[in-house]
Amino acid sequence: MSHRVTLLLGGNKGDMCSALRRAVELLEQRVGEVVATSRIYRSQAWGFHATEQFLNQAVVLHTNLEPEPLLDATQAIECELGRDRRAEAEQKAACGERYCSRTMDIDIMFYDSEVISTPRLQVPHPLMQERAFALEPLCELMEEFRHPTLGLTLRELNENLKQR
Ligand code: ATP
Ligand code: CA
Ligand code: CA
Repeated sequence: MSHRVTLLLGGNKGDMCSALRRAVELLEQRVGEVVATSRIYRSQAWGFHATEQFLNQAVVLHTNLEPEPLLDATQAIECELGRDRRAEAEQKAACGERYCSRTMDIDIMFYDSEVISTPRLQVPHPLMQERAFALEPLCELMEEFRHPTLGLTLRELNENLKQR
């Protein structure tokens, strides 16, 4: 059975435009039909200090993969696009920050309207409502989509965030 999934792609290291293009190609090959992609949004690093700006893009696709196999597939793509989790862990420990620069991060924002909570997976992504860099591209594609636990549309969540 096909599921409608929304991902947020992002990164701030290396040639991000080609990395985003390549990630979308790999998603299409391995995960399922890409039905919409937002434009690319640029923003300052969120939650840590970095000089390189982030590029983000939202992607909607149809997939037959269940949530954890979907996460396996997106993590394999992150890894192929140069993400090195061990190096990141060392860097985060050295500077004491929670986040650090990366070549490709793929977060699962929504999986249909399912609410998933396992040790590996929280869906909807628990921090999207705090992050303009997530809500802006999501709104471009699906602003009337209602968040399954917060009960507000993405447009309303984005307006709330801007008013803070
Ligand atoms: P954040 O999730 O705050 O944006 P991050 O993207 O930097 O942080 P990562 O280091 O990429 O965090 O991922 C840490 C773990 O988060 C992953 O190994 C994965 O198991 C887990 N995770 C939980 N929920 C999700 C989700 N919705 N999408 C992707 N990964 C998730
Ligand atoms: Ca992330
Ligand atoms: Ca992530």
